Amino acid sequence: MTARLRHLTTLEHMPRITIVHLIKRAIAIRDACAHGTRKLNTLAGRTVLNLFFEPSTRTRTSFELAAYRLGADVVNFDTRWSSTAKGEVLHDTLHTLEAMHLDAIVVRHKNTGIADELTRHAMSAVAIINAGDGHHAHPTQGLLDALTIYQYRPDFENLTVTICGDICHSRVARSDVHALTALGTKQIRLCGPATLLPEAFDYPSCQIMEDFDQAIEGADVTILLRLQKERMTASDVPDKASYFHRYGLNQKRLARAAKGCLVMHPGPLNREIEIASNVADGVQSHILEQVANGVFMRMAVLDELLTR
Ligand code: ASP
Repeated sequence: MTARLRHLTTLEHMPRITIVHLIKRAIAIRDACAHGTRKLNTLAGRTVLNLFFEPSTRTRTSFELAAYRLGADVVNFDTRWSSTAKGEVLHDTLHTLEAMHLDAIVVRHKNTGIADELTRHAMSAVAIINAGDGHHAHPTQGLLDALTIYQYRPDFENLTVTICGDICHSRVARSDVHALTALGTKQIRLCGPATLLPEAFDYPSCQIMEDFDQAIEGADVTILLRLQKERMTASDVPDKASYFHRYGLNQKRLARAAKGCLVMHPGPLNREIEIASNVADGVQSHILEQVANGVFMRMAVLDELLTR
C-alpha cells in the first residue's frame, strides 16, 4: 500500500513505489476499457472542475474525458469570463468554487507554484491537480510519459533517455526527469542550445549536452520538446531553419539512436522545427499513444485522489 496522495502538484520527491502504482493502475484501467466499454463508475456523484488559464488541447480534453469515464460530473470553467478579470484574487476564486462542493480542481496557469499555493489556501477536502504551472511542473505528463515507456521498456535501469529542445522553459522536461530519476533510469541526457539549457545544479541526475548528434547516440528513448516562445523574450527565439538543422529529429539522426528507439513528444508538435514529419508519423513514433495513455493516466490519478 502506498502513502495516500492528497493532491498532485509535482513529481519531485514522489517515490518510485507511488509512480509504479499509478502506472499499474492506468494499465488496469486501460485493460478494463479494452473491450468496448469506456465507462467505469468509480467516481459517480463526484465533481471535477477544470480551471485552465492557459491554452490546452490534450491535457484539458483528457482530464475531461477521464472524469466522465469514471462517472464524475465535469465542469469546464471558462476563465476568460471569470471574476479574475474583475480583479478577484485566485484564492477568493478558489473559496467561491469550494463553496459549491467540488471534489477536484484541475488547474493550469502561467505562474510557477500556483497549484501549491491553492493547496495551502484550500478550506475543503478538494484535491488540487496541477495541469501545468509556468515552466515548473506538469506531473500527469511525466506520469503518462513514464507509462508509455514502461509499456515497452520497464527496465529503466538499462535505459538511456534523451530529452531535446527548450529544456529551460519546459515543465514537461522537469516532470519527466523527476519520474525517470525515481524509476532508476540509467542515463538521462538533456540537450538543446546553450540559451535553452537549464543550470546543471537544477538537474543533478542528468547529463547536459549541446550536440544532439552526440546526445542521441545509443538512446533508447528520445523525447522532443517544442520551443516555448510564450515563455521567451523575442530575442531568445532561435531561427527556425538553423534550429531544425542542429536540433530537429530527422531520420538520419534517429539512425544514431539504439535500434527501436521510442520517439515521443508531449505536443503540440511544430513539424520541421523540432521534428521532421516523416519521423513524427513514422513507425518509431509513440506520440499518439502518449495522447491515449494521457486519458488512462488521468483516470488513474483522479481515481487515486478521489476514492482512496
Ligand atoms: N503541452 C505541454 C505543456 O503544456 C508541452 C508544450 O506546451 O509544449 O507544457
